Amino acid sequence: MNLSDRYSVLFEPIVLGRKVSKNRFWATPHAIGFGSDSPGSAAGYRGMRAEGGWGVVFTEATTISPEMDKTPHRMSRLWDEGDVRNLAYVVSEIQRHGALAGIELEYNAAVGPMTEGRGLSPRNPVTTPGESSLAVPYVGGLAGLDADGLAEIKDAYVTAALRSQRAGFDLITLHCGHAASILAHFLIPYYNTRTDEYGGSLENRSRFAREVLVAVREAVGPETAVGLRLGVDTLDAPLGLGDRGIRADGDAPLFIEFMDDLVDYWDLVIGGFEWALDAQSSRTVAENFEKPWVGHLKKYTTKPVVNVGRLNSPDTMVDILTSGQCDIIGGARAGISDPFLPEKIRTGAIGNIRECIGCNFCVSRDMAHVPIACTQNATTGEEFRRGWNPEVYSRAKNHETDVLVIGAGPAGMECAMVLGKRGMRNVHLIEAADHIGGSIEWSARIPGRHEWRRLIEYREHQLGQLANVEVILNTAMSASDALDYGAGIVVVATGSHYSRDGIDPFNRLPFGLEPVFGERLFTPEQILRDRAEVGRRVVVVDSDGYFMGPGIAELLAQRGHEVTFATKGEHVGEYQRYTRELPHTLKDLRTLGVAMRTETAVTPASDNTVRLSHLDRADEIIEVDSVVLVGTRISDSGIYDDLSARRDEWESNEIAGVYQIGDSVRPHFIAEAIFSGHRLAREIDSDDPARQRPFIRERRIVGGTDADFLLTSEALRRTI
Ligand code: SF4
Repeated sequence: MNLSDRYSVLFEPIVLGRKVSKNRFWATPHAIGFGSDSPGSAAGYRGMRAEGGWGVVFTEATTISPEMDKTPHRMSRLWDEGDVRNLAYVVSEIQRHGALAGIELEYNAAVGPMTEGRGLSPRNPVTTPGESSLAVPYVGGLAGLDADGLAEIKDAYVTAALRSQRAGFDLITLHCGHAASILAHFLIPYYNTRTDEYGGSLENRSRFAREVLVAVREAVGPETAVGLRLGVDTLDAPLGLGDRGIRADGDAPLFIEFMDDLVDYWDLVIGGFEWALDAQSSRTVAENFEKPWVGHLKKYTTKPVVNVGRLNSPDTMVDILTSGQCDIIGGARAGISDPFLPEKIRTGAIGNIRECIGCNFCVSRDMAHVPIACTQNATTGEEFRRGWNPEVYSRAKNHETDVLVIGAGPAGMECAMVLGKRGMRNVHLIEAADHIGGSIEWSARIPGRHEWRRLIEYREHQLGQLANVEVILNTAMSASDALDYGAGIVVVATGSHYSRDGIDPFNRLPFGLEPVFGERLFTPEQILRDRAEVGRRVVVVDSDGYFMGPGIAELLAQRGHEVTFATKGEHVGEYQRYTRELPHTLKDLRTLGVAMRTETAVTPASDNTVRLSHLDRADEIIEVDSVVLVGTRISDSGIYDDLSARRDEWESNEIAGVYQIGDSVRPHFIAEAIFSGHRLAREIDSDDPARQRPFIRERRIVGGTDADFLLTSEALRRTI
């Protein structure tokens, strides 16, 4: 069997009603933060996945009525003919590359305008009257819906389906998953407390979905494929709905059999109240983690079935199809990270796949209501406004220049790789350590973060293929070394380090721990990179607010240390609320017996005790042998600062420019460091590479035309 035989099953066409997908890759509905308000960005993003070979490319959940607006989420909307025009642009960009365009229609159930998002912008009462809660976003209101209300919602679906057709969509999915649409709410006993023909038995709870599907099918006719995205299991309490939800071995197979005559395909997912259980990070789940819930359901349908669940590896995809688990490989993050994943498999370029690391930074962007970005793929979200294609690099105008990149962390690796792909004559990537990767190399030692090593492995592989790039390890550089090196351009990517007694971001004062604990105080680098031994009783003091503090607490607890985690923040690892990892982190820390203190200040009480000061109760004094301070990160910008101070020596050393990227400018997310390196390399031949070029801003321009959205336009001339 040769390579192409092994993967050929992934490229077999599949019939979806009267439509045919050219292969088995299905870019599932996922939010990208552009909505219908930025049609160019949405079209650029979706079109890139189509160009990369995905046979079917979907929009995110698209609200079909102002009743269900989700401001501040920047969602796709299909409320009027203006939305039809904007979505038609998205469709055309998808179909232009030979993919089928799909739309997921959602009428979100219940909840009033008080709760997060729903109705905030239109400020109208929702059609589904009844209960509401400020604390819980999905409290139901189905019981109060009368016949007129049901008819109105059904009409909204039909109108949206017809609009979808006018926009040119090939496939229409009705969202019935993630406990996020009214169809799902009718189905799920937790929400559906009705006692009429729409409540009670499964047949009754399915009735509304059936009625809507019948109406939509009648309206659009046979030429448009129609399917359901079904949440087959709303999972165990407390994150799931427990016995009051839908279970994969209970209602789900019966529902599939009951509705099978009305659909052309099934898109199966899990998760309920907490939708992100369907998009868990690599910290908690492995590839194909949804198999226990979705893996047996294909036998209940005669229609094609889509599965998802961190499906990244081509071999796993083949196994899933050949084992009969499903017919189509669904993916969101796999395509965010590498839009060209299908094409790379098809052409045998598997080593070049930019594999998702499962960090959920993309999810965090959605939760923060900002446009999508990806740690692995700096071009994600930049397809339209900057015109970036992750596989296309133009030859730099100044390609006959040699470039010295100092530091092979995330920013330096990315920058050198892109400079290499842009054809610079010689790129030397110089690293003081004996390996590339910078902080990723040791951060990936945190429990559950080992897949982050793919950030290094992908770039290492790419750099190895570039004859014009040389990686030089074990070489410390100074400003004098850089000036003497002979490069025409110098890029400083020297990263950052955790301070030993940095600045407490909450009061801008030193923590005061280092003077007391001295060598018994450790930074993350010492714990993870240097593998320092700490005492039995440890307090981890965190003002970083993401994965590092909780990760070190978990690591030390796993090793048998008695660990107290303390932060002034309101949450343990604050940013993990956005990556939706926080519940899992809390559970793991509790299971390991880590004592957690939030809204707590830590100060030395004696040379072997610390004082934990809380907002609302008496201080605690605890005995500790060691302190781990996950505090402020400090830029390592010394070389850049020195080079800047010696600017008058650049010309005599034939240096055209010195630039600084990544954490050495400002410590930030890994994604931002990688973006920083990528951006500089993409624009190394601009008039002023230190400053980003203007990019297209999609907004209403009074009296504007489409020409105003070209990078050469007058309207954009002063963007930056
Ligand atoms: Fe994967 Fe992280 Fe990129 Fe999301 S941000 S697609 S999880 S690598």
